[in-house]
Amino acid sequence: MLGFFAPWLVAVVVLVLHLVVPARAVKGYVRGADGEPLRYRLNGLRVLAVVLAAAWSLARFGLIPWDFLWTHRWEGLAGACTLGLVFTLAIVLTAPPTGRGLLADLFLGRRENPQLWVGRSPVDAKMFLYLFGAVQLELNLGSFAAHHVLAHPDAASPGVFLYVALFSFFLCEYLFFEEVHLYTYDFFAERVGFKLGWGCLTFYPYFYSVGLWSTADLPNPGTPAPLLALFAVVFFSGWMLSRGANLQKFVFKTRPGAKLLGVLAPVTITDGERTLLCGGFWSLSRHINYLGEILMAVGLALALGWPLSPWPWLYPLYYVALLFPRQADDDRRCATKYGALWDEYRRRVRWRIVPGLY
Ligand code: NDP
Repeated sequence: MLGFFAPWLVAVVVLVLHLVVPARAVKGYVRGADGEPLRYRLNGLRVLAVVLAAAWSLARFGLIPWDFLWTHRWEGLAGACTLGLVFTLAIVLTAPPTGRGLLADLFLGRRENPQLWVGRSPVDAKMFLYLFGAVQLELNLGSFAAHHVLAHPDAASPGVFLYVALFSFFLCEYLFFEEVHLYTYDFFAERVGFKLGWGCLTFYPYFYSVGLWSTADLPNPGTPAPLLALFAVVFFSGWMLSRGANLQKFVFKTRPGAKLLGVLAPVTITDGERTLLCGGFWSLSRHINYLGEILMAVGLALALGWPLSPWPWLYPLYYVALLFPRQADDDRRCATKYGALWDEYRRRVRWRIVPGLY
């Protein structure tokens, strides 16, 4: 039972901490019904630090086994799945229908940007969901890695340490740049239903860890150190593309004339009303950030050292399945929004995701 309810407990703790831990109050990109930008409270990194310190202390003083979340991973997955379904029903069925039909409403959601305690820094449902997902995933990774070390005390795999270090970097830097994510598709184009709700409460923390879930029991595969270094390079090359592009767009949307990191001046095209970036990262392909995300996932899959096992590859494959159709959706949305300017942009930046290939 405790395993089943562990994600529920984590969700309550994260919500309480999100409310009480000092936060930055910022304006986002999405506008509310009054035409004003929505406000958000941002304290993700601090909440993660408090949860990790608490979890570490509980394990250190013997109150909970280090590998508790590993031992009860199936119960945890079932609990998170139930939580995701309960959340989906509650958030969707309590809002007026959109007219697309019940199934579409359940999957895609009805409410666009639900917020609680609206004021200077409200709790935003999307921000909370992403925060919970990141915290629960980090806890899972730590516990799965602890199981690996306990199972192979004298010969733990350096690849597992590398994988957890890279994934932790990925999660911490996501929370560090929380504000930048307010300018992404999920915030301006998606509603809160099963896709986002169950996605963040179940899929994000339990599927993203599929690589370590499937290999934590295995012995050290003996990957040579230079290869591990190469896999870290693949990961960080992806990170540079993804973070660079996202940051360049964020700077451009918030301070249109400013240079990225004081160096890269914005190169743009305009129709007099609207403007698009077509320099720097945004000249490589129209979604170079998606390529970056896929490369990071490939680096993580390789780091575990079992390239012939299909399971670690599910994570990068998922990104391909998610981001290729998303690119097509976003392209359609932008073609409608920007009209002839988008056609001009497509002429200048020919590639959709992978320069020279696609
Ligand atoms: P983008 O950040 O690329 O956002 C697309 C939007 O940016 C467009 O709709 C348009 O919005 C604007 N835009 C597009 N081209 C230009 C341009 N040339 N100049 C100015 N604005 C432009 O995509 P997403 O929001 O989908 O993704 C954001 C990040 O999140 C990516 O790095 C992605 O890989 C990552 N991601 C991560 C996931 C994960 O699980 N880790 C899952 C999904 C995404 P507008 O109308 O505002 O101009």
